[in-house]
Amino acid sequence: MKKAIFSLKITALLSASLHAQQTEDKIYHYSSMDALRNGVYTGDITVKELKEKSDFGLGTYNFLDGELIQLDGQLFRVATDGSVETASEKRQVPFGSFTFFRKDQSIMAEQIKTVAELQQKLVHLLPSRNRFYAIKIEAGFENLTLGGAVKVSEKDTTGIATFMKTRPQYKKQNIRGTLVGFYSPPYVGGLDLSPFHFHFISDDKTAGGHLIDGTFSDTKITIQLDEKSNYEVILPHTNNEGYQRNWKTSEAKAQY
Ligand SMILES: [Zn+2]
Repeated sequence: MKKAIFSLKITALLSASLHAQQTEDKIYHYSSMDALRNGVYTGDITVKELKEKSDFGLGTYNFLDGELIQLDGQLFRVATDGSVETASEKRQVPFGSFTFFRKDQSIMAEQIKTVAELQQKLVHLLPSRNRFYAIKIEAGFENLTLGGAVKVSEKDTTGIATFMKTRPQYKKQNIRGTLVGFYSPPYVGGLDLSPFHFHFISDDKTAGGHLIDGTFSDTKITIQLDEKSNYEVILPHTNNEGYQRNWKTSEAKAQY
């Protein structure tokens, strides 16, 4: 009898640790890039809730009111003027990709000058192009071009591709920080940017945004990879008319 109770406890412990493992080994993806492409800019998940689901991620805030970066558990908001603040726990998020970053392996890249070169090379260095990876790169940059967001009015359902043509850009020189990003296989191009989506936050937390372009000052770049075996997509509970109205004239394949 005693033996039976003992083995039952072991089973409970094992399933608890398996559950923790599965939670950490998962990308939690809120809404989809196609929703933004169709002008859906509201979600109902809060910064407070996200802190329980992740410690690493990227996205935007409701009505595109800033760029979102999560690093080491802290969520940051880059305002239209480029200033960075700690995001209020009440803020809501219409789109984002989040996870607990647990490094599986590091890849050293040498003789890489630009972000574009790095991305081209990285596609070939990934263990599998059909899997999902959270990617963390701590590096120095000679130049960096970051993209920002401008808040839209609450009724606006213009697809994001239109706004991207006039998005604010922040140009930085001689700056160190972290690229927070994901590799998503081409078969989920409607859910997120594929192959890569990166946001940046500087070491001093005064600059950040969506990575557009850059040149490295470091000659060796360490790429930290966290392979994810689970991908959970959560759809907003909001019933946005724009999504339905724009559905037939979808700009789904427009470039963000
Ligand atoms: Zn972005």
